[in-house]
Amino acid sequence: MSIPENKHKFETRTIHAGSAPDPSTGARNTPIYQTTAFTFDNTDHAASLFNLQNFGFIYGRLGNPTVSVLEERMANLENGRAAVACSTGHAAQLLALHPLMEPGDKVLASRNLYGGSITQFSHAFKKFGWDVDFVDATNTNNIKKILNNKHKCIFIESLSNPSGVILDIEKIALIANNAKIPLIVDNTMASPYLFKPFEWGADIITHSLTKFVGGHGNSMGGIVIESGKFNWFQSDKYPSMTKPTESYHGLIFAETFGDFGYSMKIRADSLRDLGSTLSPTNAFYFINGLETLHLRMERHCKNALKVAKFLDAHEKVSWVSYAGLKKNKYHNLSKKYMNKGVGPVFTFGLKEGHEAGKKIINKVKIFSHVANVGDTRSLILHPASTTHNQLSTDQKIAAGAGPEVVRLSIGIEHHDDLIKDLKYALTNI
Ligand SMILES: *Cc1c(COP(=O)(O)O)cnc(C)c1O
Repeated sequence: MSIPENKHKFETRTIHAGSAPDPSTGARNTPIYQTTAFTFDNTDHAASLFNLQNFGFIYGRLGNPTVSVLEERMANLENGRAAVACSTGHAAQLLALHPLMEPGDKVLASRNLYGGSITQFSHAFKKFGWDVDFVDATNTNNIKKILNNKHKCIFIESLSNPSGVILDIEKIALIANNAKIPLIVDNTMASPYLFKPFEWGADIITHSLTKFVGGHGNSMGGIVIESGKFNWFQSDKYPSMTKPTESYHGLIFAETFGDFGYSMKIRADSLRDLGSTLSPTNAFYFINGLETLHLRMERHCKNALKVAKFLDAHEKVSWVSYAGLKKNKYHNLSKKYMNKGVGPVFTFGLKEGHEAGKKIINKVKIFSHVANVGDTRSLILHPASTTHNQLSTDQKIAAGAGPEVVRLSIGIEHHDDLIKDLKYALTNI
C-alpha cells in the first residue's frame, strides 16, 4: 500500500499517512519497535549511516521506526516536508530554536504564550545566551517596531493557551519573511485539524503532542515540523545551516539535504546532543490518538461552544473569553483562520474574583482538577496559582491568567452533564 499523498482528505490521512502493514510480519497496526539499537549490514554500511551518507536506523536516541511513522504522519497532516519528534512540547521548542540561535541572539515572541513557555524562554534559554523580547502581537505594529538584526525568529501560538488569542498570522508571516527569518508557530491548541500554519506562511511548526494529538492524557511528547520552503542561504544569519558542520566532516546541512536540511540538522545535531528523544511506546499512543483527531476535535469544539454560551449567560460569571462567541474580540480572525472551530480550551472570570475562582474547582464533580489540556475528559484549573504561578502579576495578566481567571478544557463527554456540573458548582460557591 502506498502512502497517501496530500490529495487525500485530512480524515483519511490521520489514519493512513506514514504507515503501511509491517513488511516482515504483516501486522496491520504500527508495531512498537521497543529496541535501543539496530543491526548494521556490515562495517561499510555502519560507517555510511554514521556519516549521514545513507538513511537508516542506528541507535534509539536518533530515530526509531515507530517514531518515524508518527513523524511522517504529522508532517503530512501539517502539509510540511519533514518532522522530528521528541520527548515533550518543551523539548520541541528547544530543538526548534537550537539550529537557529547562537549566544547573544534573540527570539521575538508573542507575550500570549503558554505559561511554561514564557518561563522556558525567559529563564532556561537565557543560560544559553539566548534572549527573548515579548511583544503584544495582537497589534502587528508592535512586532515591526521592535524587530532588529539580533532576532533569529518570531515565535507565536496559533491559538493561545489559555486565553484563546488568535493573531493575524498571515501578516506576521509577511513581517518574518521580509526580515528573512523563520516564523515558528506553536500549533498545539488548534491541532492540524483546526488550523494549518504553513498555508499562511509559517516556516516551522511545534506541537506539544501531549495535548490533542495524543488526546487521552496518557503520554508526553513533542514535535518540530518544517515547511521545507525557508531559504537558509538568503542571509548569513544561520551558520549552523549554511556553513560546514565540524562534527560531520564539514557537511553543509542546508546544501546536502535541501528542503529537509533543518530537520536533518535537528536530528543529527540537536537531538543527538541534547538527547530529548521520544519513546517508541509513546509514539504508538500518538499514532493511535491521531486516528481519531478529527472526530475528537469536532466534538470538543461543539461541546465547548455550548458550555461557553451557558457560562456567558450565568449571573455569577463576569466574562467568557472564547473566540467561538460572536462578541469575542477574536471572532473575526477565527472565521478567517479556524472556520471549523476554535478548540475546547478557554477561560472565564467570576464576579466574586480570586476566592470564588478557587472554590468552583472544589465543587465540580465531572471536571478533573489537573494542569493538562486536550484530554477526552473535561478539565478545570486556576492558572494564576498553578501553571502561571512562576510569572509576575503583570505577566499573568498579560498572558490572560489574572487572579480571577478559571481555565477549562472541555472534553468529549455529553455537554448536558458538563453544564449541569458547572451549574451546581456555580450555585454552591
Ligand atoms: C503544554 C504546552 C506546551 C508544552 O508542552 P509539554 O508537552 O507539556 O512539554 C507548549 N505549548 C503549549 C501551547 C502547550 O499547551
